[in-house]
Amino acid sequence: MDKVSCGALRASDAGRGVELSGWVHRRRDHGGLIFIDVRDRDGLTQVVFAPEDAAVFAVAESLRNEDVVRVAGSVRLRPDGTHNAKLATGEVELPASSLEILARSLTPPFSVNSDADVDESLRLRYRYLDLRRGRLQHNLTVRHRLVKAMRDYFDAHDFLEIETPNLIKSTPEGARDYLVPSRVHPGTFYALPQSPQILKQICMIGGLGRYMQIARCYRDEDPRADRQPEFTQLDVEMSFVGEEDVLAIMEGCMRQVWERVLAIEVGPMPRLTHAEAVRRYGSDKPDLRFGLELADVASAFEGSGIKFLEAHTGPGGRIAAVRYPGGASLSRRDFDQLTEAAKQFGAGGLVWIALGADGTKSSIAKLLTDELTARVAAAAGAETGDALLIVAGARHEASEIAGKLRIEVADRLNLRDPQAFAFCWIVGFPLFEKDPDSGEITFSHHPFTAPAPGQENMFDTEPLSMRAQHYDMVLNGYELGSGSIRNHSVDVQRKIFERLGLSAGEIEDRFGFLMEALQYGAPPHGGMALGIDRIAMLACGESSIRDVIAFPKNQMARDLMMDAPSAVSLKQLQELALVSTATPKPAQP
Ligand code: ASP
Repeated sequence: MDKVSCGALRASDAGRGVELSGWVHRRRDHGGLIFIDVRDRDGLTQVVFAPEDAAVFAVAESLRNEDVVRVAGSVRLRPDGTHNAKLATGEVELPASSLEILARSLTPPFSVNSDADVDESLRLRYRYLDLRRGRLQHNLTVRHRLVKAMRDYFDAHDFLEIETPNLIKSTPEGARDYLVPSRVHPGTFYALPQSPQILKQICMIGGLGRYMQIARCYRDEDPRADRQPEFTQLDVEMSFVGEEDVLAIMEGCMRQVWERVLAIEVGPMPRLTHAEAVRRYGSDKPDLRFGLELADVASAFEGSGIKFLEAHTGPGGRIAAVRYPGGASLSRRDFDQLTEAAKQFGAGGLVWIALGADGTKSSIAKLLTDELTARVAAAAGAETGDALLIVAGARHEASEIAGKLRIEVADRLNLRDPQAFAFCWIVGFPLFEKDPDSGEITFSHHPFTAPAPGQENMFDTEPLSMRAQHYDMVLNGYELGSGSIRNHSVDVQRKIFERLGLSAGEIEDRFGFLMEALQYGAPPHGGMALGIDRIAMLACGESSIRDVIAFPKNQMARDLMMDAPSAVSLKQLQELALVSTATPKPAQP
């Protein structure tokens, strides 16, 4: 008896004596026979029980979905006309000569044998049942292949995979740390790494040359739909490189991975500067699967007398138009919905112009002349039959709102094909930006990013005009990850910390070990990290990263299966010196 998987048998196996194990996927009783599809990760095999073998048949009669069985028999061809072309094993079946029930299953709270929609909290609560379903089995297989292809690529390019610790020093990198109290050193804490950033830099100072790691990162941020408190990155760092070298390695990786895992050839990735991306697409993570670039139509409105638009024709403002191909035939209700969407994106309102063959309709019809309409249409490259959605405001805000409207239009026109993959690079980011809440100068990427070459003397004079050697990789409107060339000069690194408002004492206290290491011969270095959860999500055509993670937290950062986070015992808290061990005094009468 050969042990085979449930997806292995073919017509050529007819006559072979085999044994297979798995879950009862589905049971059908007809013509006096019992048919059971037995399932494992590899597939399904049809097993048949005939009443002639009364003992085995009696056990088969008791089988329920998700019971775990082992069956043996001699493979036979299915009778003509009963082949199942949808199944890899569809030409054969296994008449069972023996059946062993290895485990019984309670009735599952949702059906495991289909990918039908089930409430997500139920799926997360019973994750082991969800994991058995086709969708997650497929997604986790693709994820494994992606990661394997990445490891192979970096191995072939002379990188070492180096593990960095999960218990480290709190070195803020933009988000809040998860802290782990030390029992051995009461009152002190480890932090979980927001990323291995400083450690991978120290690997470069340590002469390891080329580092990669499939690294877990932890960030204690407010829960949001597509955010996980812990996530996985492809983390990379290289010595003696400039921006071009890192871009070439990372681009090569993604192109090879896409080709190997998805059999999709990705062309060279276009590059856009940050400013260009915002101008043309209203986003620093543009979706390039479709065109519909934003058009600047301010010049058309100059001198139009339309006050609320003219207010934004100056240098600080923007009047951006999104072309809606064929949009002239939209109803008033459609335009109301688009106006509502624009308001949700933060616009005060939306100007729309429908360029119908039988005349123009518009939210500002009373203020439009034919000549003005023609000027706006020409500036936006619109034709008869199109509509224009126009937003006006401060430059950045108007761009962002128009960028979101561009996506809205693409969604309505089904232009965001999940099977299409449009990668691009965004480069030329500013080094610093102003924190919108505090107005203070803060870093755009992280404080270890180097300024553009030759700009090291601008720290005191024009910090906000400084550019960074920082780049993002973007796919289909998602930021896959960021990277930068780092400061290998301790002086430049100190300058940045100072510019961010850190005192000498704070620099020493938080980053002393890095500052010291930088003084022992630090090679020029740079790297990048790409989010594996997002990459897997897009590769699998999913819209939530939770569907490519075996055990995700829910949208409120809870693990519904293990019920975490949860309370711990008083004793544990006392051991960690988080509560006093003093016995409370008995209450006075
Ligand atoms: N550590 C950075 C991050 O996690 C990526 C990098 O600069 O390599 O975003």
